[in-house]
Amino acid sequence: MEKCKLCLIRDMAEKADIYEYVKKTRAMLPEGERASDELYEERLGVCMACDSLLSGTCRKCGCYVEIRAASKASGCPVGRW
Ligand code: SF4
Repeated sequence: MEKCKLCLIRDMAEKADIYEYVKKTRAMLPEGERASDELYEERLGVCMACDSLLSGTCRKCGCYVEIRAASKASGCPVGRW
């Protein structure tokens, strides 16, 4: 497995408050609107391999990817997921 690049908020201790916000936001989505755990992790895996990811943020849209990926209806701004 590749070494962690600290791509996601959850990997950055100094952003712990933001990660709590991410988790709360995801949990608040109605179940029918929330991406499944499997889909969520699949999306984040694509983001982690993407050149546009910087410190948990997508440089194409400005979103925190862990929030963007949480909604079933969301999509990558350039169609990668
Ligand atoms: S949302 Fe799309 S463009 Fe943005 S970081 Fe993820 S894969 Fe890359």
